[in-house]
Amino acid sequence: MALAGLERETDSLVQVFVERSQSDPDRTAYEFLHADGEVAELTYGTLFARASAVAARLVDRGDPGVALLLYPPGLGFVTALWGCLLAGVPAAPAYPPVATENDRGTARFLRIVEDAQPGVIVADPMVDGVLSTLGQQHSLPPVISVDAELESLDAAPHLPGSDDVALVQYTSGSTTEPKGVVLRHGNLVHNTRAIAEVFGLDAGSRSISWLPPYHDMGLIGCVLTPLRVGFPMRLMSPLHFLKSPLTWLRQVSDLGVTATGGPNFAYDLCVRRAQRVDLSDVDLSSWRVAFNGAEPVRRKTLEAFARQFAENGFRPEAFLPCYGLAEATLIVSGRHWHPDDSGPRVSCGPSVTGMQVAIVDDGVRVPAGTQGEIWLRGPSVTAGYLNGTDDLFGDLDGERFLRTGDLGLVRDGELFVTGRSKDVLVSQGVNYHAADIEAAAVLDNPAVQTTAAAFQADDRIVLVAARAPGTQDDDATVAGRLRTRVLEGTGARLDVVVFCPVRSIPRTTSGKVRRARCRELLVAGELPGAVAALGSWDNEF
Ligand code: ATP
Ligand code: MG
Repeated sequence: MALAGLERETDSLVQVFVERSQSDPDRTAYEFLHADGEVAELTYGTLFARASAVAARLVDRGDPGVALLLYPPGLGFVTALWGCLLAGVPAAPAYPPVATENDRGTARFLRIVEDAQPGVIVADPMVDGVLSTLGQQHSLPPVISVDAELESLDAAPHLPGSDDVALVQYTSGSTTEPKGVVLRHGNLVHNTRAIAEVFGLDAGSRSISWLPPYHDMGLIGCVLTPLRVGFPMRLMSPLHFLKSPLTWLRQVSDLGVTATGGPNFAYDLCVRRAQRVDLSDVDLSSWRVAFNGAEPVRRKTLEAFARQFAENGFRPEAFLPCYGLAEATLIVSGRHWHPDDSGPRVSCGPSVTGMQVAIVDDGVRVPAGTQGEIWLRGPSVTAGYLNGTDDLFGDLDGERFLRTGDLGLVRDGELFVTGRSKDVLVSQGVNYHAADIEAAAVLDNPAVQTTAAAFQADDRIVLVAARAPGTQDDDATVAGRLRTRVLEGTGARLDVVVFCPVRSIPRTTSGKVRRARCRELLVAGELPGAVAALGSWDNEF
């Protein structure tokens, strides 16, 4: 099959899209699996016609600057996204606000409006009501409301150059408020190609994604890359996955999916759920690339998943740990897992073609095998944020590198991510990574849920966790065991253990724990349902 997207050089994915919609109008571009099992489909021809209609409406507005995209996951989202790309208007995709008051989503939405200063909002009609109510109290730009069924209008596609701005991709907001990363067409072309190379994708690939489509793996990996390569992409909503994680695996089986994945927690969730269900009819033998990124990749998780699903035909070497971030468009490095690797950390592989990785401490490169901050340079790296780029770049040997804020080391040409510099805890002169403490506490531990937050308050190490339903032991006993696990697993000594309902632990829309925010809430006495199970925190921090 022709690989129009990869075989030859191109300035933009828009060009690939325009060509494919002319040469293969009847081929499937995207599908959406609804919660009731119904599947809706968009061919290249239909997608192009509808996206052109969105583009025409945008072009009518003159130059709106950034367009804020507000859609639930679905075909309306991809139509509006491609509409913006065809119009040459940079889209900033964001989670739509669902309520007008006391809603975390609404607060996040208002912050993005403040940061992106969009000239227009392109929204699903279902968001209209919320937007008009919010518009009475806040200054919002004009709204273009379009659904997926839009009739075609004529608009000549704008064919961008590689230096034109394509998108504004917001970061997850794990450590601070989400930041708007400016991505150019050249960034998208380079990174989608890198993903296709590392994952071995081609027009015969089959995939399903439940990842939030607003950024990173969900947007670059699962909306843009499939179109670049030319295989049909099936999407489903993250909520559908969270309610019914095994639907993901059933889809792999039904469709003969070759490549799909998610953050480490998704694999844990499937293992936990699978223990209660008969999955003997699920066949995972087509699954060649099970990517795992966006959060620390845990050997225990890979082993447990491989063990659990061996009888369904899952092959452990399908795992593909990878590392990436919004500021690098998405992928930085990745490699298939070698289950016989030893050592506490899983390799995230060599850097992708064209991406230079340097490990830096105090402004200089450190020797191989030594930990430092991960710095990057290459065609996928952003030129900056929409606002506040000041500390994003550093100078190394006279060249400009992106400072990721992540810590890691390179051994035998492969990157091992160890943690984030903002999440290093210091106890009695020794450094610990928050994620390691959380993993030691919760992985393979039926007494607690898999979401937890470790952080430092004054000189004490605090773990906030959530008890799993159905265990009888009292809080103090479970907390004491957590302390033992963490001590044995990492050497760190927990000073305080707090239990709260799992929904109280603040997380990003992509499910990452927000440690600094959790600490802030705990210290302010505002973490709902928090009880101290070991040590105490009342008014003491
Ligand atoms: P924010 O920048 O707003 O605090 P964020 O950094 O989580 O949020 P993203 O760009 O979506 O936003 O996520 C990228 C980050 O995820 C990386 O910088 C890194 O900290 C983490 N990450 C990604 N892949 C891996 C991996 N394989 N192992 C460990 N951490 C990873
Ligand atoms: Mg970040």
